[in-house]
Amino acid sequence: MWCIVRVRVPRKMESSLMELMRESARIWNETRKFILSQVDLNELLDLVSKKKSKEAYTILNALKWDAQKVIKSDVLHSQSVQAIQDYLTASIKTYLKNKLKDDSHNLPREVKWYPLVWKNQAIKFVDGKMILPLAKGKGKIVIPLNKKHKKQLSKFLNEFNGVIRWVVITRKYGRYWMHVFVKAEDVKSDVDPERRLFIDLGEVHPFVGWNEADNEFVFFNGRYIRSLKQLRLKLIAQKQSLLSKKQKGSRRWRKVKRSFDEQIWKLERKITDLECKYVKSLLDYCLEHRIGTVVIGDLKGIRENNDKGEKVNQKIHNMWRFRRLIDRLKYKLSAYGIRVVEVSEEYSTQLCPVCGKSNKPNGRIYRCKCGFVFHRDFVGAIGIARNYYNFELMKGFKWLAPEKVNVKVFKVDIAKSVVKSIVVSVGRPRSWTGTPAVRRSSPARVRNPVL
Ligand SMILES: [Zn+2]
Repeated sequence: MWCIVRVRVPRKMESSLMELMRESARIWNETRKFILSQVDLNELLDLVSKKKSKEAYTILNALKWDAQKVIKSDVLHSQSVQAIQDYLTASIKTYLKNKLKDDSHNLPREVKWYPLVWKNQAIKFVDGKMILPLAKGKGKIVIPLNKKHKKQLSKFLNEFNGVIRWVVITRKYGRYWMHVFVKAEDVKSDVDPERRLFIDLGEVHPFVGWNEADNEFVFFNGRYIRSLKQLRLKLIAQKQSLLSKKQKGSRRWRKVKRSFDEQIWKLERKITDLECKYVKSLLDYCLEHRIGTVVIGDLKGIRENNDKGEKVNQKIHNMWRFRRLIDRLKYKLSAYGIRVVEVSEEYSTQLCPVCGKSNKPNGRIYRCKCGFVFHRDFVGAIGIARNYYNFELMKGFKWLAPEKVNVKVFKVDIAKSVVKSIVVSVGRPRSWTGTPAVRRSSPARVRNPVL
């Protein structure tokens, strides 16, 4: 698994780093010019289209090695220079691959600055300081880590047997960040693949899950994160309306843009941070309950549940956010040996877990003619379980309601910006007196589990 530590670079180093980033850009631009002047792109595209991409890549690699002999830097470390040239060649390869599928792709562009990259052997971490060498005789860059980052990094290195593979320094919204990429071993854990947690993903509450093994529910309250997302949208709208009144590129324009970008960036980081904490809490829950398989609904539902009047960009942003959250979840859980399975979300929120009839939930409460009344999000989570086992919709899977339904509620503590959890009992689903059927232990036909 990959672990990343992100550190803000001290302000006093910013100007010297910008100098280096310009040098980094020079290497990028000159290598780009060198390769593109010597290669016939149409010929390469032709090779790729004839499924001879390997030949095309060999030509590119040979050119890269030629470039490495000629284009050097007397400021940057030789491995940093090579890394830039590797990235450039890789992005030309990506261009070749994508161009055939979709004509809108462009070649990598000339840049004004480019991130600084260091590779494994060059990097040293001594006394809580990251030491990054430059070219011979040019000294090195030393970036101190604060207590929190030091602790984080030593955990990755010592507990997870990690190795620092890359360090990248880059700039975003006028700030400088150092990313330390550590490749670590997967963790051994005591989970059981037969113990499953079924999760309904939602816009309001990111995860609502049913822990089948202990017949317990988890509920991640998403209202606070949602309010941050709405604030972010409001700021973006304000920024656009203010900027449209100023002359583009003027001093006032730049000032307004910078101040808004900073606020939006802060919010963005806060949202991501809280999402990470939710994923971590879910992981801890799984480890505590030895859950070895987590089943989630696919994304289709999210798209349909979106409010109609929303702008297209916003929809795309939401989808992207969700996908990223799921990827993060998969990645984090898989490092602990927990499998994440995606199944169809079809009917998951509509069918009654007791009698199997279809009902449209009204508000937050799900009601069925058979007398079953329960929180709709929990019905969704049970629905994911039904889809996973793929029982016949009318008679198959029935949920065995316990006398007392335990719900573990996860919530953001706003003041401390941490995730807290409490256990609440919601009592047996109202007015349901039917005899619960026992679920067959092995499904007759398993068609659904999509990996
Ligand atoms: Zn019913």
